[in-house]
This record gives sequence, C-alpha cells and structure tokens, in this order.
Amino acid sequence: AKARGRGCIQFFAPEMNRRAAERHELESDLRTAIAQDQLSLYFQPQIAPGTEQMIGAEALLRWHHPQKGLILPARFIPVAEDSGHLMVSIGNWVIEKACAQARAWLDAGYPPVRISVNVSIVQLRNKDFSIYVENLLQRYRLTPDLLQLELTESIIMSDIAGAAEQVRKIKDMGIHIAIDDFGTGYSSLSYLKDLPVHELKIDKSFVHNILTDVNSAAIVKAIIRMAQGLGLRVIAEGVENQEAMDFLIQNECEGAQGYFFGKPITPSAFEAQFFG
Ligand code: C2E
Ligand code: CA
Ligand code: CA
Ligand code: CA
Repeated sequence: AKARGRGCIQFFAPEMNRRAAERHELESDLRTAIAQDQLSLYFQPQIAPGTEQMIGAEALLRWHHPQKGLILPARFIPVAEDSGHLMVSIGNWVIEKACAQARAWLDAGYPPVRISVNVSIVQLRNKDFSIYVENLLQRYRLTPDLLQLELTESIIMSDIAGAAEQVRKIKDMGIHIAIDDFGTGYSSLSYLKDLPVHELKIDKSFVHNILTDVNSAAIVKAIIRMAQGLGLRVIAEGVENQEAMDFLIQNECEGAQGYFFGKPITPSAFEAQFFG
C-alpha cells in the first residue's frame, strides 16, 4: 500500500506542477497582453426570432497570444479573476472598448445597437465601478440604454461584496442589466422582485436540448412565460439550428443568439455582415 501511495504522489505531482506552471505563465503573459494590444473584442448578433431583425450584440473577449495563438476566455478569465487586479484591468478595458465601438458605429451612421458586455464579480467589488462606467458613457457620448451589462445569478446573490448595491447604481443610471446563464444559478428568484433587471438570457444548456429533452423544453417555455409575466426581455443563447428557432418563434421568445445567425466575429466582419 505504501509503495502504491508513493506511486500516486509521483504520478500526480508532476501533472499538478505542470498545470500550476502553465497558469503562472498565462498570468504573466496576460499582464502584458493589454499593453501589447493582444486582446480584442469579437461581436455576436442577437436577433428577434421571426423578423430576424438585429436587437443587440454581445461583446466577447479574445486573446491572440503571440506564440500560443488564439486563447478563449474560458481559459484565461479564471486566471485573471484569481489575480484580482488583472481582472479589473481587463474588465475595464473591455467596457471601454465596447463603448468606443458603439461610438464608432454611430459615427459611421449605422443603426444603434445595444452592446452587451460580460462583467466579473471582481469588477463589481470595486467601489468605483459605477463611476468608471458613467464616465465612459460621457466620454463616448452614449445614452445608457446602448450598454448592457451581463451578470450571472451568483454575482447578483453575492451581497456580501456589496455587489447588489453596485448593480442598483448601474441600473439607476439607465444601463441595462441582463442575467446571464439564467436557470443555472441554483438561486432563489426573489432577487427579480427586489432588483428588477431588464433581460433574462436562457442558458444554452437548456436551449441545446430543446428538441431532445422534454424537461429542457419545459424549462425554456417556463422561463419565457415568467419573463413575460415580469415584463422582462428574454433571449435564448446557443441557438444552433432552424428547429430551435422554430421552437422559440412558437413560444414567443423575444430574442435569440447563437451560431445559427452568426458566431462571434471581428468588428469589421460584423459590419460587413450585419450593417452591409
Ligand atoms: P457567455 O457569456 O455565456 O457567452 C456565450 C458563449 O457561448 C461564448 O463563448 C460564445 O462564443 C458561445 N456561443 C455563442 N453561440 C453559441 C452556440 O450557438 N453554440 C455554442 N455551443 N456556443 C455558443 P466564449 O466567447 O468562448 O466565452 C465563454 C465565456 O467567457 C462567456 O460565456 C463569458 O462567461 C466569458 N467571457 C467572455 N468574454 C468576457 C469578458 O469580456 N469578460 C468576462 N468577465 N467574461 C467573459
Ligand atoms: Ca454572456
Ligand atoms: Ca451565457
Ligand atoms: Ca457563462
């Protein structure tokens, strides 16, 4: 038994060291990523089922690493969040870039598009967050309804960090708030009464299974009905095919986002495809 125990340690330790080293390396590379212009925002359209009219766009972060190539947020956002201040720098950069893009599109004469930006709990812990956002809106001369912040339920619920107060300030400024990954938070719904938000985004795990799993279909329907009852916009994410689309039209879902209409793409590709 002793020998086996040693064997396990010998087997796992190098693997753990390798991972820790990789994270460490990512973190140090990430420190220079903003300064060296390696981060960019891609945009994915949100459309109204049935009319196919664009109702917004989600900004999604991409990192083009000089050696490692494209790195997706799922890999580096957790690293940035662990460091704390890195997430604040990156998150601030994302909101400013989104505002700059909204301004550029308005200046180019394109119809106004509400841009949705993902926000980390780390950003909301910063007391000056709402002031930062307010200043950006002023600097880029944007009305607050052109910006939407996407927060997860767990962020809304984490009152300990003073996040709820920040969310309220943002909302009072007229900035729209969406609950991202709605339905996956294992949380009470009572916050919807205390802190009315503008939009629910039905998590793609339910949307993917609409056609194959009756429970997923029932959950999607129920969320749509609840949003209607509460007077909130509702949008389904992860819409990949016509069948899912038909389901959303039939159940009167207001918005849809997914590969069926378009993957996240660069701003110039987005212009060519959706403002063309
Ligand atoms: P999310 O906010 O839930 O974003 C939706 C993710 O689903 C995006 O992945 C998007 O590319 C992907 N997606 C869109 N349509 C489809 C579809 O039809 N099928 C499938 N399978 N996937 C689809 P992405 O860009 O890799 O981002 C992953 C996550 O990283 C985001 O999930 C979000 O939580 C986080 N993230 C991205 N950008 C930022 C950012 O600027 N700040 C923060 N804090 N988090 C971000
Ligand atoms: Ca999102
Ligand atoms: Ca989501
Ligand atoms: Ca997510």
